[in-house]
Amino acid sequence: MKAALLEEFEQPLNVTTTRDPVLPDDGIVVRVNTCGVCRSDWHGWKGTNPLIKRPHVPGHEFAGDVVAVGPDCHQINIGDRVTAPVIMGCGCCPTCRQGQLTLCDTQHVIGFSGWGAFAELVAIPYADSNAVVLPDSVGYDVAAALGCRTTTAFAAVVDRAQVRAGESLAVHGCGGVGLSAVSIGAAVGATVIAVDIIEEKLHLAKEAGATHVVNAATVNDVAGTIREITGGGANASIEALGITETFHNSLRCLAKFGRHVQIGQPLDDHATPLIPLLETVYYRQLSIMGSRGLSAHRFPALFALIAAGRLDMQRLIKNRITLEQASDVFYQMDNHEDVGITLIESI
Ligand SMILES: [Zn+2]
Ligand SMILES: [Zn+2]
Repeated sequence: MKAALLEEFEQPLNVTTTRDPVLPDDGIVVRVNTCGVCRSDWHGWKGTNPLIKRPHVPGHEFAGDVVAVGPDCHQINIGDRVTAPVIMGCGCCPTCRQGQLTLCDTQHVIGFSGWGAFAELVAIPYADSNAVVLPDSVGYDVAAALGCRTTTAFAAVVDRAQVRAGESLAVHGCGGVGLSAVSIGAAVGATVIAVDIIEEKLHLAKEAGATHVVNAATVNDVAGTIREITGGGANASIEALGITETFHNSLRCLAKFGRHVQIGQPLDDHATPLIPLLETVYYRQLSIMGSRGLSAHRFPALFALIAAGRLDMQRLIKNRITLEQASDVFYQMDNHEDVGITLIESI
């Protein structure tokens, strides 16, 4: 098959012909139609994800057609249009059987612990529990654009923070996952305050439904500004960058009893920030939560938001590229010049 191989970190991907994926007994093989390019792929390309063993094929935000079904997979058929979550639980362990597949101890993280979908073909293990058949109303591009960003944002805003209509939601960082959190917050009827340092991203956040935007490069006190806008603090706040400073802004912008959800992946020095425990969690009774991925059985709730016209993914898709152009996007991400969602549509 044709695939984009990561052979050297921070070097252009090698688009070449390589071996086809092996069909898992309990899995499927999908012919990739569309695959998103995500900041998590960029982290892998930079060499900061310990799961990745080279040569490697990145790509975890795909949609396509099932071309092979293993003997122990019973729910999925050849020809089905499918996507799948980035984190795939085994479906059988006690955690998975409680519906928490993103916490499975033997999880397969597509495009990280195994080869991904910057390729013609991709293998999906545990397919009965993880393959999501697309309704006719969801195109390949929308399914790929949901990617890990919108599914993660949905889990964070709806399932973890449980943001309700009329509440306020601050979103720190308007890259892919941050913009998605803005969209989901607006879709459930929250007042959304979006924060970034790039005007173009704040403009996109407004398009995605943010009621207020804060440029952190031009205001002295981001958290104070949000507390002013919301009249005392946001009910919920999402950190979507994995940066210590924005994590602290997120905690400090919250109202009493507010809920912080960490969806930015805090790497390197940002992995162990100091927490002002007394002032935040104790006196102001804040909740600090993490959220990572979305289990397959929750995808239909996300599709329902799209079908109801409350979530428009098309307007977030800004670039449609070929497989050969994927490396260029990584170099743009080096400088945070990527805006909106980029999809590989020609493989
Ligand atoms: Zn499991
Ligand atoms: Zn992703």
